[in-house]
Amino acid sequence: MRGRMMDFPLLVSSLIEHAGGVHGDRDVVSRLVGGEVHRSSWREVRGRAKRLARALEALGIRRGDRLGTLAWNTHRHLEVYYGVSGMGAVCHTLNPRLHPSQLVYILKHASDRVLFVDPPFVPLVEPVADQVPVERYVVLGGADEVPESSLPGLVSYEELIDEHDEKYAWPRLDESEAASLCYTSGTTGNPKGVLYSNRSTVLHAYGVIQPDVFGIGRADAVLPIVPMFHANAWGLPYAAAAVGSKVVFPGPRLDPEGLTEQLTEEGVTMCAGVPSVFIPLLRHWREKGIAKPPALSMMLLGGTAPPKSLIEAIEEMGIEFRHAWGMTEMSPLGTTNRLTPEQRREPVKERSRHHVKQGRPPFGVELRIVDDEGEALPHDGAAFGELQVRGPWVVDGYFLEDAGRLTGDGWFPTGDVATMDETTCMQITDRTKDLIKSGGEWISSIDVENAAMGHPGITMAAVIGVPHERWGERPLLIAVPATDPPPSKESVLEHLGGVLARWQLPDEVIFVENLPMGATGKVQKTRLREEYASG
Ligand code: AMP
Repeated sequence: MRGRMMDFPLLVSSLIEHAGGVHGDRDVVSRLVGGEVHRSSWREVRGRAKRLARALEALGIRRGDRLGTLAWNTHRHLEVYYGVSGMGAVCHTLNPRLHPSQLVYILKHASDRVLFVDPPFVPLVEPVADQVPVERYVVLGGADEVPESSLPGLVSYEELIDEHDEKYAWPRLDESEAASLCYTSGTTGNPKGVLYSNRSTVLHAYGVIQPDVFGIGRADAVLPIVPMFHANAWGLPYAAAAVGSKVVFPGPRLDPEGLTEQLTEEGVTMCAGVPSVFIPLLRHWREKGIAKPPALSMMLLGGTAPPKSLIEAIEEMGIEFRHAWGMTEMSPLGTTNRLTPEQRREPVKERSRHHVKQGRPPFGVELRIVDDEGEALPHDGAAFGELQVRGPWVVDGYFLEDAGRLTGDGWFPTGDVATMDETTCMQITDRTKDLIKSGGEWISSIDVENAAMGHPGITMAAVIGVPHERWGERPLLIAVPATDPPPSKESVLEHLGGVLARWQLPDEVIFVENLPMGATGKVQKTRLREEYASG
């Protein structure tokens, strides 16, 4: 027997309709590319998204067409999210730090018809314009911000939407229609597209506003430091619309001074980003003796395993550190770790052992760890195996790939290796491909990195396996020193010896000025392997 409830589709347009109506007075603040601060509201964002939708229809954009963005986090990027998905097209966010050849590959693979670009990124696309299918470029700014350029159909965003008013009714789409597209920075092979649906996006928004996940509401002000091209800024633009949080966008200013200013002046209560942004931020506060931004109560970190020293620095400031794990294929949220009152009563240094765990899945995500035969492993905090996931906001196959990616019994293999304790609290041990096998024993590169970053003379560390005649592979530690001169190899090994077994200690320690970082805040281990693993 069927239930007798309304057949009411879950649509991205319903999020902006809700935010613009119920929470229309709540602010949307952006730092623009030129440095100035722009203030608008959810009501204005809704109105301008509708004007954009009308403009796109007038240009002949149809449902299902892909429209790209190459932009920082700003109110205009937010309007593009909603205008494009709302009218039934697919908002495809591109990472401006991609290599030009990857940019070409992705623009062609996605067949993007329009590309919305921030003015500083115009020079990135100009040299490849004749190799990609883009018909029209829209510069995210006013008429005076459109540079001299040979790009086809070049127009400013403001001029484009200016010709239309906001009298527009969002189409009633099928909730399974695609809403947005994001390519994962695959470390092998070509990037792969994850195509989110309207339904998965809305369900993910419901999932992440839960208290133990983002825990945000109308009274909050959120700062997505994580770029809008990294898995839709982890869903924050949708979650904030669902609950009416004020949103503060950093634009291009991800430096400690810029972030501190916004966190303080805009009364930000929650921000989200990757460790490589937070490490310099916390250092800046410490060095300059800056007190915690008054309203800031939570920093949500994900994307890569954070060092304990960072977790402790955040908690010592009286800010809750909240650990999150996920992946582009999961919209992206998979787990978060909110400590219990008992755990929070432990001293900062002790409770970081809880904080290093990636946490539990919210309702909406299911997890399991399996061995090489696909058999489920026990939740005992020791057995480790591949982490597999399922749920309504998890991918089942990549864009334009015929074959699905699920196991025979319907789970998505994440490629991460993890343990799970008795309370289903998950901890990532490594990526399958980053684990180091030495003399038949596995060494977790994350464990060694975390231990190394606990050395006062080390800011950042990456560990890779290098081929070894006798042991198969041995760990090599590549680190960015915090001191000049860098600490000695002996002092690093002595420090590591306090937490790691002898055979887990790296054979070599190399100091470098910088580690190669991808735009989503991960150390590019493939590049380190290319450079160092040959011996
Ligand atoms: P991406 O799709 O670019 O967001 O990358 C997803 C991958 O990042 C995951 O499969 C993990 O390997 C890694 N990752 C994300 N969050 C964490 C975390 N909190 N700790 C360790 N690794 C993480």
